[in-house]
Amino acid sequence: MGDEREGHPVASLLAIAGTGQNGATLLCRMLGEVPGFVAVGEIGRIWEKGLGENVECSCGEVFFDCPFWKAVGERSFGGWHRLDPAECHRLAASITLGRSRFPHPFALPLILVPWIAPRLRRDLEAYAELLDKLYEGVRAVTGADVIVDSMKIPGHIYLLARQRRFSPKFVQLIRDPRGVAYSNTKKVPRQGSRADKPMRTTRTPRKTASKWLWFNLAFELLRALRYPFARVRYEEFVDDPEAALRTCARQIGRELAPEDLEFLHGRTATLTPGHLVAGNRMRLLRGDVELRLDEAWRRELPSSDQRTVERVTSPLLRRYGYRPTSR
Ligand SMILES: [Zn+2]
Repeated sequence: MGDEREGHPVASLLAIAGTGQNGATLLCRMLGEVPGFVAVGEIGRIWEKGLGENVECSCGEVFFDCPFWKAVGERSFGGWHRLDPAECHRLAASITLGRSRFPHPFALPLILVPWIAPRLRRDLEAYAELLDKLYEGVRAVTGADVIVDSMKIPGHIYLLARQRRFSPKFVQLIRDPRGVAYSNTKKVPRQGSRADKPMRTTRTPRKTASKWLWFNLAFELLRALRYPFARVRYEEFVDDPEAALRTCARQIGRELAPEDLEFLHGRTATLTPGHLVAGNRMRLLRGDVELRLDEAWRRELPSSDQRTVERVTSPLLRRYGYRPTSR
């Protein structure tokens, strides 16, 4: 898989793009069960969650005790201690112009044409190099020929689109924005050792809708520029996961054989723990996981909020096959 450079086989990189609350972590983990594939989750948050907070990896060990990440750190950087977490975090923030909760849209054109901002360009190049070493370490430690990344956000996707080494391919995972909006209004308990901390803050339906719109417009722009994007809708993924996995694998030129999908029985996936350091609580599930369509928003999201979301997302709503409710 992939091409050969300097005598080393180069892995393919499959990156999931999307808005959050869209099943990306689950899709990433299911892809990671395919032989020869490895799921790394929200890799761009490893500096904050791993190096910074030493959170629990999905294998159950904390980051610095996880044998997988220990080996990757050794291979990529000669050990994690050789990196300055604050500097890594600063470089990672360059793809959002320093904003973490709601990435800055102006960052995206600057990633595509960085020469107009030389200082940012240096940071972006340094960050791309850091990610490159990380993916290379993952490839070397696992021997996998496909790395699946569920970082999702436009800045990360744009940065990957500009890098050549792993010939990245993209899957845009789209969910009905009313479902995303409803999920974002629910308070979610924090994970693991942070379970006692305040619950994750919620986002108003209007804010979710504008984020949904500009994220998806950002991905549409890359698609229009002929970067390799496939679309998968969350609702279809949940209904027929096998078809969604096949669509994803085709992005990197792979036809899945029945033995590649032995972990999947209809809508039930048998998941091994894996080594995801960041991602939503789906990263911690293991064993048999049944996929179920979550359409609680139809009952629970007030119709005025539904209409707000429909209005804000109208430039793309129908295009992605979602119908406004006529109430
Ligand atoms: Zn681990």
